[in-house]
Amino acid sequence: MQLRIGNGYDIHRLVACRPLILGGQHLDHPDGLGLDGHSDADVLVHAIMDALLGALSLGDIGKYFPPDDPQWKGADSLVLLEQVVALVQERGWSVVNVDSVVVAERPKLKPHIEAMRAAIASRMDLDADQVGVKATTNEKLGAEGREEGISCHAVALLQKG
Ligand code: MG
Repeated sequence: MQLRIGNGYDIHRLVACRPLILGGQHLDHPDGLGLDGHSDADVLVHAIMDALLGALSLGDIGKYFPPDDPQWKGADSLVLLEQVVALVQERGWSVVNVDSVVVAERPKLKPHIEAMRAAIASRMDLDADQVGVKATTNEKLGAEGREEGISCHAVALLQKG
């Protein structure tokens, strides 16, 4: 059996007049802020996609879904995730597990973690226990701490054979 590991990172700016979507869930920020981006700016799903692509040295999501391509404007990132999982499966690989940590001061993510895991798992043909989603604040430090943005780190393990 062959194994591959990949890591992914993403950050998006918090701005007014945008939805806040994480793991496919629409959340309410106390100041009404949301994530800026060409697609739905789901930073959690983007980091997971980059971890999957990274495990197979397939580049990053910008290569497959260029931010200047009108086709991906407002795109549902869970649909893009399905396409990335298909790329992995077409090459004979399957996902062992993914794990992630979202860095956000607010809102509290804990009440939404299970729904995020379930949504991501179902799009990846996985069980929820194969999808780790964790959340941390940045202790008010740095860009995430000042609520200028929300970032996410993710890893993915793939197997073949
Ligand atoms: Mg992104």
